[in-house]
Amino acid sequence: MQSNRPNRLATVNPATGVLVKSFEPLKAAELEQKLQKAAETFAAFSRSPLPERSRALVRAAEILEAEKESFGRLMTLEMGKPLRAAVQEAKKCALGCRYYAENAADFLQDEVIATSATSSFVRYQPLGPVLAVMPWNFPFWQVFRFSAPALMAGNVGLLKHASNVPQCALAIEDVFMRAGFPDGAFQTLLIGAGQVNDLIADTRIAAVTLTGSLAAGQSVAAAAGKAIKKSVLELGGSDPFVIMPSADLERAAQTAVQARTINNGQSCIAAKRFIVHERIAPEFIQLFVAQMRALSVGDPMDPRTDVGPLATPQVLADLQRQVDETIHQGAKCLLGGRALVGPGNFFPPTVLTDIPRSSPAYSEELFGPVASIFTVNSPETAVQLANDTCFGLGAVAWTNDPRERELFIDELQSGLVFINGMVASDPRLPFGGIKQSGYGRELSHHGIREFVNAKTVCIC
Ligand code: NAP
Repeated sequence: MQSNRPNRLATVNPATGVLVKSFEPLKAAELEQKLQKAAETFAAFSRSPLPERSRALVRAAEILEAEKESFGRLMTLEMGKPLRAAVQEAKKCALGCRYYAENAADFLQDEVIATSATSSFVRYQPLGPVLAVMPWNFPFWQVFRFSAPALMAGNVGLLKHASNVPQCALAIEDVFMRAGFPDGAFQTLLIGAGQVNDLIADTRIAAVTLTGSLAAGQSVAAAAGKAIKKSVLELGGSDPFVIMPSADLERAAQTAVQARTINNGQSCIAAKRFIVHERIAPEFIQLFVAQMRALSVGDPMDPRTDVGPLATPQVLADLQRQVDETIHQGAKCLLGGRALVGPGNFFPPTVLTDIPRSSPAYSEELFGPVASIFTVNSPETAVQLANDTCFGLGAVAWTNDPRERELFIDELQSGLVFINGMVASDPRLPFGGIKQSGYGRELSHHGIREFVNAKTVCIC
């Protein structure tokens, strides 16, 4: 399904609702020029010496580190995450750049395979211009975790960023240019979602990666399938967070609050469903609700703020509908539940229990600071409930019982399992989901091998 969203590219402050700046989408001729530039740049860039690309990526890291405060303010202005988290995000991008600058040569080395031939090996070669369709929730990190490995492999990047973060998109292009990448190695396309399918069909585009919602993933995957192009999809999640009686309950509750409210609750790997053993449920709920209540909601530029506004009025309206419908079907609301009155897209920390299986909180992704708590009577029923979802991105289990730990590692259906912690991304660890959370992996050596031709060579 091709998107029919309007091409409104604008910065609207989510804390105030004030339109800060809007942008005209690229005209057809401008888009054509950028596509052609990407194709021409690839021809030379793909043959450039790896150490040269590596030096440029280190310079990108230095720029990100030096200007982390202003990049942080830009992220907060456009999508509302608390400023200190936004500054951290810029630093994490630098870490990702340094990781690939240092390790890409190893990851891309010829892989020798012993056969009866004189010599046989796999050579990793870039594919061409890669289109990246990216979301607003981690407006820098999502882009750098795609582009650092893609550029190191010798591909060139074209970014179609979410329409509410156009200034972040332009700032990222500027980082790559100032870092010394050739003109055309990384370009931001100010276009609407409705233009993505035509781009995927264009013969100059070699592959596409999308991070975003299920609906966008279905559309991009269909277009890529039609054109027989490689695609990677990082989609939504409704991650379970299981707590068993042997866990350190205080630490589990504290981590649970953080895992649910990080990025104002708008993270694909935020814990969304808390599955608690009945023996400890009353105590866990008490600890959890008290800490959720204590969070400060407000201006994301204020360093004391824990939870800022949701990114857009649409995200707020979707969340309110899901919460209302879940309560209407019989769930109990222990805290929060209603959007705050006044300017900005504020939704308070919210806790739901007694959630019916037919309700949105059971089966949909809730993108905001809303926790759904479920009670179970065994580790096996915890696994069953955790897996009763179309998603399979991350999962957490808190237990100090070795048998239970193995059960959760083996049986939880997800791309990532964290024991006694919270799911987080790290450049060294592969990241991605199964089921309707998508396919393919980002980060680590897995990430850099997504957009390369693994060419088998046999010298007979
Ligand atoms: P979204 O609406 O799917 O938007 C993501 C990107 O896709 C935007 O650039 C958007 O452009 C574009 N897009 C939307 N519909 C499209 C279509 N039909 N065809 C082509 N492109 C389309 O998602 P979102 O609401 O911004 O982001 C939140 C979602 O992303 C959540 O579900 C979250 O879990 C997921 N996410 C996943 C990961 C992961 O690693 N698995 C990480 C972060 C977020 P416009 O802005 O112009 O509409």
